[in-house]
Amino acid sequence: MLIGCHVSFNKDKQLVKSTEEAISYGANTFMFYTGAPQNTNRSEISYELTSEAYRLMELHHIDREKVIVHAPYIINLANRDHLEFSVRFLTEELKRCDQLGMSYLVLHPGSHVGVGIEQGLHNIIEGLNTVFIEYRGKTKILLETMAGKGTELGKTFQELKTILDGVYENDRLGICLDTCHLNDAGYSVENFDQVLAEFDQIIGIDKIGCVHVNDSKNPLASHKDRHENIGFGTIGFDSLLRVVYHPLLSDVPKILETPYIDREYAPYRCEIAMIKEQQFNPNLREQVKEESQK
Ligand code: FE
Ligand code: FE
Ligand code: ZN
Repeated sequence: MLIGCHVSFNKDKQLVKSTEEAISYGANTFMFYTGAPQNTNRSEISYELTSEAYRLMELHHIDREKVIVHAPYIINLANRDHLEFSVRFLTEELKRCDQLGMSYLVLHPGSHVGVGIEQGLHNIIEGLNTVFIEYRGKTKILLETMAGKGTELGKTFQELKTILDGVYENDRLGICLDTCHLNDAGYSVENFDQVLAEFDQIIGIDKIGCVHVNDSKNPLASHKDRHENIGFGTIGFDSLLRVVYHPLLSDVPKILETPYIDREYAPYRCEIAMIKEQQFNPNLREQVKEESQK
């Protein structure tokens, strides 16, 4: 089972920092942003630090092929006024993935901000086609399933399918399922087999390159997108455990993006332990705080 979480990547230690953080949580995979998700400041990728991180990954049996990069939120391919910037920044981000030896970049498809679903999807398709002309490397883009907050696109499998169909080189695209977003979009994670069957019919299970495992603070179809710690939300521990251990997704990395406790303490070591032991820990929050004060 491939289980990890979102970790940091900083200017001084770059991928070494991300790898060390993942290892400290008992993770065997991880996801990171190449810089702050909300701005364009990016540091030059260091070859020395990258190779040091590779050595560390090898030592701890982390498969580099399965490590995930997340694209910054400021990219919005659905908005035409923003398209030139988004295409350029996404292309640069893909090149950074290559420099880091990463194979998958998770991307939020975009928000149409008023132009409507059809036009928004059209803009995304055009944006991705342009990006794939300008970028010829090996990193694939995984489109994330969205909650449908505001004018977000990619909230239904059908919308994602429309994007896949419109992109010429769609073998360079895959999908990242996010359990919180699925729930908030109206797909019942409790009946995950049914959701997966529907996904398979429309898109195909083989397209899934990553799963974001998050509980949700809100009920089914709420279109909110607020993540909750595993077992503390409306999806619940047992349903999330079935996703994590689903036999059809055994090769797919599972990534936690759950909130810090009191905005300060990373819950991931305890959450990963809970998932590995397959036993819900109702005292998770207390334990996380206790451990970090040691
Ligand atoms: Fe995301
Ligand atoms: Fe996510
Ligand atoms: Zn989210």
